[in-house]
Amino acid sequence: MKRLLVLALAATALFAQAQTSFPGTKPITFVVPFAAGGPTDRVARDLAEAMRKSMGNGANFVVENVNGAGGTIGAAKVSKAAPDGHTLLLHHIGMAAAPGLYRKLSYKPLEDFEYLGMINEVPMTIIGKPQLAANTYRDLENYIKANSGKLNIAHAGLGSASHLCGLMWQSSINAKEAMTTIPFGGTAPAMNALVGGQVDMMCDQTTNTVGQIEAGRVKAYAVTTAKPLSSNKLLKDYPTLQEMGLKGFDLTIWHGLYAPKGTPPAVLAQINTAMKAALKDPEFIKKQEGLGAVVVTDKRVEPAAHKTFVTNEINKLKPVIDAAGKYAD
Ligand code: ASP
Repeated sequence: MKRLLVLALAATALFAQAQTSFPGTKPITFVVPFAAGGPTDRVARDLAEAMRKSMGNGANFVVENVNGAGGTIGAAKVSKAAPDGHTLLLHHIGMAAAPGLYRKLSYKPLEDFEYLGMINEVPMTIIGKPQLAANTYRDLENYIKANSGKLNIAHAGLGSASHLCGLMWQSSINAKEAMTTIPFGGTAPAMNALVGGQVDMMCDQTTNTVGQIEAGRVKAYAVTTAKPLSSNKLLKDYPTLQEMGLKGFDLTIWHGLYAPKGTPPAVLAQINTAMKAALKDPEFIKKQEGLGAVVVTDKRVEPAAHKTFVTNEINKLKPVIDAAGKYAD
């Protein structure tokens, strides 16, 4: 009888623990501050699948796209969400560009979030609509000069990676006035417009462009990294912007994961452990590498290293944005 009572008490305790332990039955939502089907969304869906496996426990993940204003609407939403580990932000370089671009930002990137770790680094590509009358990067620069004022360049909103890349590229080739910028809620809809020939050009992450280049739906001209992407079977054939004479041009995008400020340390630690394991999942790595992205190693999947990195990026990007002289508000 006594033994039965002990067993019953132990079962109740286990049940109570299961009830309170994270994540429980409630899903973990990755808020992606850009449109579905785009580069950041793709990283989020692949990471969610890898973390579902690494977290075990029947954990389930959902992705919510809260796009607009270069990622600042989604980031603001997570900064105000309940700090219980169930709402996380998966964001990219826009986390560091926003304080330079938006003078009235409703959240503080370095104060309103818990940093969970970096995810990957992603190069970018200069691409054009299939009908664009330029086949090489050299042709493209000549074409832009000859058609100054008549062209447009798409991006995923003020403060997005494509916006930043476009700004840097236009100022490097002295073509600030040559093109009109057209904002979208992400580069997924921007890509549809490019493939359909409604916009002329875009600078977008390889995770979104590789498939389109391979299928011949867009023209590719150059990659934005300092070094050629020699290990990628498709991208190795495109020159870097530095090789094309744009001295010092070196742009790589990165993604990281964040929780609202005040999320309990034990929950953060659990997410971080699952994240580290997910980033070593061979299937996740293979998908990312096939799209030209590089998954970071453990030492960058650390809250302190992640926060230091973002701080440095904020300090690096502000002067670039000031030099371009274009603000979002
Ligand atoms: N990351 C954005 C997206 O997923 C694109 C960008 O920032 O350029 O659509």
